[in-house]
Amino acid sequence: RIAVFGSVNMDLVAYVATAPGSGQTVTGTEFRQVPGGKGANQAIAAARAGGDVSFLGAVGDDAFGTQLRSTLVESGIEVSGLRTEAGASGVAHIVVESDGANSIIVIPGANGRVTDVGDDDVRLIRGSAALLLQLELPLPAVTAAARAAREVGVPTVLTPAPVQELPDELLDAVDLLVANQHEAAAIAGQSDPSRALAPLLERVPEAVVTLGADGAVHGRRGEDPVRVPARPVTAIDTIAAGDTFCGALAVARAEGRSAEAALRFASEAAALSVQRYGASLSMPERAEIERVRTT
Ligand code: ADP
Repeated sequence: RIAVFGSVNMDLVAYVATAPGSGQTVTGTEFRQVPGGKGANQAIAAARAGGDVSFLGAVGDDAFGTQLRSTLVESGIEVSGLRTEAGASGVAHIVVESDGANSIIVIPGANGRVTDVGDDDVRLIRGSAALLLQLELPLPAVTAAARAAREVGVPTVLTPAPVQELPDELLDAVDLLVANQHEAAAIAGQSDPSRALAPLLERVPEAVVTLGADGAVHGRRGEDPVRVPARPVTAIDTIAAGDTFCGALAVARAEGRSAEAALRFASEAAALSVQRYGASLSMPERAEIERVRTT
């Protein structure tokens, strides 16, 4: 089983040729309401990729909360660790431009009220093949979860997004960091992302840097990096490409695949997702991932 401790939001997505600047109003081409949040996205990606997944986090007691909970349940995700908090659910306001570029405002809502891990959370984390973490819950909660997982011997996978300064207290309890180029460069203190891997490996034992259309690279302390190219595809919506990648990667690793095989599986899943609209809606099922890998 894979445990995910993270955010769940309702994504309110506006599609537009070019995003408006300050004070500007533009007419968009389409609107979609899609379940999202990095935590839920990674959980759904992992479940679709064939993983047995438990989600830990919080929704609000509003209509979005009810919808978000149902989405996770319908995706086959175990939700005994999903709390309902008084107040609003998390919401993400997303603008997607016609070239696939996106800009996002996250309003945390219930996610912001998750401040710690409880005994029930630790019970769900214990015995998991991995605990997936992101930074859309308050940092003390993410840190507490990573440390709790370390204590019960469960490997932790951190996506450091939205990117921020990471305390050693958290990074010391991270086994695998999965970062995009921007995040990797920021954490490594490097302006050149292609040089980020080595300094990252001074802070965590293992790291994957995703390179968008250029694929991804895996590094482990003391080993040569392994690079996997992305399948050349036409991207129409790259929201949650990284989350799809991370969820699929966790499943492949939990199955005991090699670093390179896991990277290939994750890359195929992410390449499928960028060819479709809508974060969680765009995530491929395992059969689709397996099919492209053999063609
Ligand atoms: P994020 O979405 O977190 O910013 P990236 O842009 O690095 O992260 O994308 C994550 C992964 O998604 C990449 O490593 C790659 O496998 C896949 N991906 C992203 N963009 C494309 C693309 N244009 N074509 C094919 N694969 C892509």
